[in-house]
Amino acid sequence: MKIVMLGAPGAGKGTQAKMIAEKYGIPHVSTGDIFRANIKNGTELGKEAKQYMDQGKLVPDELTVKILLDRVAQDDCKNGYVLDGFPRTIPQANVLDEALTKLGDKIDYAVNVDVPDENIINRMGGRRACVACGATYHVVYNAPKTEGICDVCGKELIIRDDDQPETVKNRLNVYHEQTQPLIDFYEEKGVLKSVDGTVDMKDVFAAIVEILGE
Ligand code: ADP
Ligand code: AMP
Repeated sequence: MKIVMLGAPGAGKGTQAKMIAEKYGIPHVSTGDIFRANIKNGTELGKEAKQYMDQGKLVPDELTVKILLDRVAQDDCKNGYVLDGFPRTIPQANVLDEALTKLGDKIDYAVNVDVPDENIINRMGGRRACVACGATYHVVYNAPKTEGICDVCGKELIIRDDDQPETVKNRLNVYHEQTQPLIDFYEEKGVLKSVDGTVDMKDVFAAIVEILGE
């Protein structure tokens, strides 16, 4: 099963993608996580990506497309995957579509997690991420057992550099201009499914399972 997660930054794509990956036994592929791992390891790709990410801009397609295609060509992706944060532009979606068509394959579901902008600012302000394992929390809606400490690995939780309010505004503008058109793109392909992302995360997941099947 090949799934694309759509939705504004902070809509809950990563939260849901992790649950999907676990339930259906497919890898969770997040381009944002790949970039953050590169930044942490001080690679050239990380240095370049950081300049864009810190401003709330998209990393150029030339850099992003290659790392995604390399990742999904790996062995663990052969039975499917859930993409989180890719595609984010129509050219990215076209490249993915062409690569899959060459393999006689396609995206099965594009799951749009629908959350209005008013809720997004609140979500991103409370987001905390683990420095080590990338687990995500929210200070109110999904608080860790001990404040500031990751439940999964015990390391420190931080506020992402790009979750500062000014950057969030830029990211929302970029989303509306460049990423939202993907909703129509996947609608035209007949694979778009929208869920209400404003409800509790367990209920969002239940709606997704209803779509994907048990
Ligand atoms: P995205 O991957 O779309 O950027 P995340 O999954 O990181 O978004 O979620 C953004 C923030 O909102 C996180 O702090 C997360 O814990 C919280 N969150 C996710 N889903 C919900 C929900 N249904 N209700 C409330 N908060 C949520
Ligand atoms: P995310 O973790 O998905 O919120 O992504 C964080 C940041 O990484 C984004 O704001 C972009 O700067 C960059 N990024 C992640 N995925 C992509 C993508 N598919 N295309 C361009 N930039 C991306």
